[in-house]
Amino acid sequence: MQPSRLMPREEHPIIHPEERRYTGGCHCGRIRFAFSARATELTECNCSICRAKGALWLPIRAEALEVIARADDVQVYRFGTCTAEHSFCRACGIHPYVKPRILPQLRMVNAHCVDDPAVETLPRRAFDGRDFERAAEALMAEIASRRRA
Ligand SMILES: [Zn+2]
Repeated sequence: MQPSRLMPREEHPIIHPEERRYTGGCHCGRIRFAFSARATELTECNCSICRAKGALWLPIRAEALEVIARADDVQVYRFGTCTAEHSFCRACGIHPYVKPRILPQLRMVNAHCVDDPAVETLPRRAFDGRDFERAAEALMAEIASRRRA
């Protein structure tokens, strides 16, 4: 059976209670990355840049992300408040990861850039980036209430 995002969490082939090792990179291979994470959920954002990229984000701890690239090959794009750092490959233009504007302790890895395509089948959570301030506030409130629980 093909994994699907509608598959119950407990049956999903890559949702594990333990951390797993992942690798990935841009299209031409000038940027490669590796990380260990418990991948359980992707973030699908509808803000202007995420829509344009068609990106699907896997949130991981910033310190978990290991980037293997020449500094010259990685370009950072900023816009708006210029807080988020959208890293992309100078040669092929693909955006493998982002330092987000909120939760800077995370890196958002482009699930489409992970070598294991099963990552793209993880359940998706919508982030209403088109209404960024309100969505960010709601997310921070949810995280705070999870911490209290
Ligand atoms: Zn590239």
